[in-house]
Amino acid sequence: MRRRGIREVRTVTLERPVGHWLEGERYRGGVSLLPIRVYGDPVLNEVTTEVENIDGQIKALAESMIETMYDAPGVGLAANQIGVQKRMFVYDQGEGDGAIVVINPTIVETDGEWTFHEGCLSVPGLSWDITRANAVHLTGFDLDGNEIDIQTNEYEGRILQHEMDHLNGVLLIERLDADQRREAKILLREQRALIAANDPDGLHRLFGD
Ligand SMILES: [Zn+2]
Repeated sequence: MRRRGIREVRTVTLERPVGHWLEGERYRGGVSLLPIRVYGDPVLNEVTTEVENIDGQIKALAESMIETMYDAPGVGLAANQIGVQKRMFVYDQGEGDGAIVVINPTIVETDGEWTFHEGCLSVPGLSWDITRANAVHLTGFDLDGNEIDIQTNEYEGRILQHEMDHLNGVLLIERLDADQRREAKILLREQRALIAANDPDGLHRLFGD
């Protein structure tokens, strides 16, 4: 079990880290990077299903997810963001603990409220102040099938809630108020139209720009 105290509020955007920890440790397993699905891809709106067996395939998937997350770079990645409808996510909040794999997670309790500037690898280029619970108690399983029990708050709590949303088919846009959501959808439609006009094959999305 890990407990974390209150930390100073950070201003980095969730799933879009800046500065020091781009220079930190990176996973180098030699596994393949996977294209990250973006807003408009229906796979992001589907509820994922439980992992039944933590087998070699799931372990290989976790490695690819970790490498893809670091490459993006991001602080968290859910399986359906790379098109796999399984309840698992990886994250690394950049405090030197390395990447954590969480399989079949459940949020058992939340407490308080915290507003934080939040972005998403699947909604590139946009971010908003979003209010969610502050403290989070999450349980799940690691790659060895051992139970995980995480009680945390603020930044790490935010990552856990964001990734849980992904597994439930919810993008952060659903967490905006009605006006913000309308504005966001207009921006995202424009963004998609621009990409389609300049890149009809979607290649720049696959290879980055
Ligand atoms: Zn996200």
